[in-house]
Amino acid sequence: MVNQASHLRPDVWVLCDFDGTASVKDVQNMLLDHFLGTSWQEVVNTALAEGLKSTTYMPLLYKNWPASREEMIQIIDEKAALDPQFPRFVAYCRENGYHLEIVSDGLDIYIEHLLTKHKLEDIPYTSNRIVFEDGKAQIESPFRSESCGLCGNCKKQRVLAARRAQAGCVVYIGDGISDECPAGYSDILFAKGNLLAYCRENDIEAIPFRNFADVLALFPEAVAGWLRSLTIQGSQK
Ligand SMILES: [Mg+2]
Ligand SMILES: [Zn+2]
Repeated sequence: MVNQASHLRPDVWVLCDFDGTASVKDVQNMLLDHFLGTSWQEVVNTALAEGLKSTTYMPLLYKNWPASREEMIQIIDEKAALDPQFPRFVAYCRENGYHLEIVSDGLDIYIEHLLTKHKLEDIPYTSNRIVFEDGKAQIESPFRSESCGLCGNCKKQRVLAARRAQAGCVVYIGDGISDECPAGYSDILFAKGNLLAYCRENDIEAIPFRNFADVLALFPEAVAGWLRSLTIQGSQK
């Protein structure tokens, strides 16, 4: 049996994807469309068809990147937005003492800008970085993992970090290819888009969602259900 205290206050870690999850649309794809046209999609599709991921295609996409930091920020301001209920979800996590962090295989420039715009800049995040030197853009991936080798930021590493930090319950929320590595390792998984299709193909249990209004509505019961499953496991021992 789990004890009464952990029933009341489970130590929940929430790992949340950024593009198309915390943000309404995929901001990186929007920026690539805006500054490169649609030719970049072929580069990505070719890499994916070969079983490769972002460590292969990201340096190619940004090789002759035509925009400055300021030009990117301007387009981010014009075209990108957080899910309208995401700030409410952040507040919900805080009220309940849940640890929330963003795990992104996108870029720091727009994550930082959009979070700051909503006064959410204290949410920790990991992502790739775009660095400008002598007017040229370069991609750095400080959260690459040797054990994966495919993702610029292998998000499974953050699930493992949560386990090392003795998280009671790890919740993962995502929508895309870069969320596949962590998908099977969380206790509760919210999935939409490509990630949901991947979960269905691979028999990974997932809660479908459309947006953060859904996540807010479904979250309390998801955690309660997880706690009940622990109690059942405990009583069967
Ligand atoms: Mg995404
Ligand atoms: Zn990975």
